Amino acid sequence: MTYKKIERTPSAHYFPLLIKNILESSQVLAPNQEIVYRDTLRYTYKILADRIARLANALTTLGVKPGDTVAVMDWDTNRYFECFFAIPMMGAVLHTINIRLSPEQILYTINHAKDDVILINAEFFPLLEPVKDQIKTVKKFILLKDDDNMPETGLVMDGEYEELLSQGGSDYDFPEFDEDTMATTFYTTGTTGLPKGVYFSHRQIVLHTLGAAAGFSGIKSQAHLTSEDVYMPITPMFHVHAWGFPYFFTMIGAKQIYIGRYEPELILKLIKKENVTFSHCVPTILHMMLNSPDIKDVDLSNWQVIIGGAALPKALCKQALDLGVNIYAGYGMSETCPMLTGPKLKPETLALEPEKQVEARCRTGLPAPLVNLRIIDSKGNPLPHDGNATGEVVVRSPWLTQGYTDDPERSEELWDGGWLHTGDIGYVDYEGCLQITDRMKDVIKTGGEWISSLELEDIISQHEAVSEAVAIGVPDDKWGERPMCIIVLKDNYKGKVDTDELKQFVMKYVEDGTIPKYGVPDKIVFTDTIPKTSVGKMDKKVLREQYN
Ligand code: AMP
Repeated sequence: MTYKKIERTPSAHYFPLLIKNILESSQVLAPNQEIVYRDTLRYTYKILADRIARLANALTTLGVKPGDTVAVMDWDTNRYFECFFAIPMMGAVLHTINIRLSPEQILYTINHAKDDVILINAEFFPLLEPVKDQIKTVKKFILLKDDDNMPETGLVMDGEYEELLSQGGSDYDFPEFDEDTMATTFYTTGTTGLPKGVYFSHRQIVLHTLGAAAGFSGIKSQAHLTSEDVYMPITPMFHVHAWGFPYFFTMIGAKQIYIGRYEPELILKLIKKENVTFSHCVPTILHMMLNSPDIKDVDLSNWQVIIGGAALPKALCKQALDLGVNIYAGYGMSETCPMLTGPKLKPETLALEPEKQVEARCRTGLPAPLVNLRIIDSKGNPLPHDGNATGEVVVRSPWLTQGYTDDPERSEELWDGGWLHTGDIGYVDYEGCLQITDRMKDVIKTGGEWISSLELEDIISQHEAVSEAVAIGVPDDKWGERPMCIIVLKDNYKGKVDTDELKQFVMKYVEDGTIPKYGVPDKIVFTDTIPKTSVGKMDKKVLREQYN
């Protein structure tokens, strides 16, 4: 079949989708809108554009060229936000280094990404100090600092950020280039093996931004964002570009607040002071905030929050709803830029009492515009969307990483059969709504049956004494694996609740048919803290090693 392609007159301009267009939009729509850093700095989008041009001039003077890789190690600062634009807009690649990894893992990612320049916050000198002699490709370091307190370092700095900006001119002609040019790269915090590099082009980031605009601003639901919102990310900027929202809010010209190092008291203070209306985070961070003594002084009834990176536990959802928070789940992953799905509550659901909305708000949700989703069996065959057939979730969309950096084998595994394999298990119902039931690696396999670790955690977290809960499979001679739960009790329940009481609580869910009898954990243990991954998720790998 021959398709009729459009004709282009020789003078027609082919408009590549570039990150610079996102910034330009803010300059037209909201030049005087504010960007705020902690309680120390605020400036307008007009000044933002000026600073981005100065940064590009400074990097050019230091020798950065298109195609180079420029890495950042910083808290969530206005500087990081400026790097989100200046570095890719020059045609260089922004590498967002995960500062929660070990020095050896960070070294691996720096060498693997072939970083040319690193912008580093003085607080992270101790991370590079032990490995500095093994850094291979980095030619220049730029110092980032908030004050003059600096740890000793053997690293040689080639300039300080603010000084470099004051020297750089404010005119920079950001070039036009192919939209498939790489804009960003970072490494997944995989639970096994070495970190894997993912990468995204300008086109992908622009389409992700437009997809978010259609999903959040076009479709009427509880997930609704406009230029009147005040945005404060509480997901680190190194974790999938803070889920892409800094680009989205810049395109629509909304006020943005960056909080530096995470401190629950400062987060709450800024939510109040700046009238923050939207944030996103992993469940652990929200749990920490809601349990801060300062929570009682903050009105959260204008706050919308997406919980992603892990399932939203019903108990946490209920706790937040009771405070008036418009809370709901979002699903995505590093490989997917990350937006894939989110719940869209219908008016009839929103009219219900808050506790009757919990179920709907915790669902994994409907695919975002331009996301295609399938459930497949172990042979790769698509399964029906009947709310029952459970298998691996595979996806297609314009913004998925097209492979892992320099790793053809794992890239092909990721894209086996032309669909990106998420490694998550779930089902889709008749309305097209996805429910993730587990990660393939975390599902508990007992006597040939599967138990969802997420469902078990969700059930046990609903006991009034439970603060945090994790379910894992532990080896068992007879059944292969048996479920076990590791629990942190709320302070006022410590010593007052025993494991039998919690088992009895889970039994109620067996009686009403929610889970089968073999889903009741054989063993429940109490602990003071649960180990977390580099992005704040419960670390089941460490727990499995600990309890196996
Ligand atoms: P990461 O690449 O670190 O962002 O982790 C992505 C993984 O987090 C996904 O593959 C899921 O296993 C998990 N995840 C993210 N969002 C959700 C969600 N809403 N419900 C359940 N699991 C989630």
